[in-house]
Amino acid sequence: MQVEEGKIVCGIVGLPLGHSLSPAMHRAAFHSMGLDADYRVFETNDIKGVVGLIRSSSIRGLSVTMPHKREVMALLDDIDDTALRVGAVNTIVNFSGRLVGHNTDAAGLGACLDEEGIAGHGEALLIGAGGAARAAALALKERGIRTAVTNRSEARGLAFAQEMGCKYLSFEELEGYSAEVIINATPVGMSHLKDLLPVPEAVVRKDMTVIDLIYNPPETGLLLIARERGCRIISGLSMFVHQGALQFRLWTGLNGPIDIMKDAVEGCLKRSRC
Ligand code: NDP
Repeated sequence: MQVEEGKIVCGIVGLPLGHSLSPAMHRAAFHSMGLDADYRVFETNDIKGVVGLIRSSSIRGLSVTMPHKREVMALLDDIDDTALRVGAVNTIVNFSGRLVGHNTDAAGLGACLDEEGIAGHGEALLIGAGGAARAAALALKERGIRTAVTNRSEARGLAFAQEMGCKYLSFEELEGYSAEVIINATPVGMSHLKDLLPVPEAVVRKDMTVIDLIYNPPETGLLLIARERGCRIISGLSMFVHQGALQFRLWTGLNGPIDIMKDAVEGCLKRSRC
């Protein structure tokens, strides 16, 4: 693929990408900083083909999203420690043909927790045992927050708990359970699952902080209930923008313009199209 001399080209690979907000967010960041840059969309199942393409071009890097975050790991030359611990790569940086995988989700959520002053005490209930949950477990651990995990499939939840050093709670055990923070790291609440809750309603109690990693819709059913019960609520938007800003820094060496990136994503969500 031809890249003009001096131009910064990055992009995203995944399938489907129709509703991804990464292109709007990164293009706004590049534009606001006056960079001659482009952010391209590789909407494909052919992850091997796209990795080969960037290796042989001067494309600086890629965001990697579903369903390639794990499979891509075997195709790269190196993987950083965080991505290894999360078990997924969401960012590739191209050093003249040497491709290095990173994961900015854990640090993205970490930045959101820091912004909200969530650290050092209490327990968090983490719902889900996939890649986003692993990133969340790392961010919580780094901030000294004890974690309990619950998951639809018990076997996967138990394996997660053992590997990430947290306790496992079945849905039945959630009865009467209380945590300072709840984090939903499942897709329950997204448009196709919008009428469902990821845990029984009774788990949500006044004075909790409830974080949903979903950012579209901005207010899921879980956050709606939490708001009605007087909880502090945080959508996945903050994590998404922070993980994007960290990608931006990996590709350009410059701090991502958080406010611009956030405005771009919020604008898209308001218009419900990008
Ligand atoms: P994975 O597919 O890796 O994991 C999905 C998890 O959700 C699993 O634990 C799975 O349980 C559970 N789950 C899936 N469907 C259901 C259901 N119908 N009912 C109950 N549990 C269910 O996905 P990710 O971890 O990559 O992503 C999870 C969510 O996190 C996504 O929806 C995404 O919106 C969000 N996310 C947000 C980011 C941000 O920047 N804000 C970044 C990354 C992700 P089981 O083990 O039983 O299958």
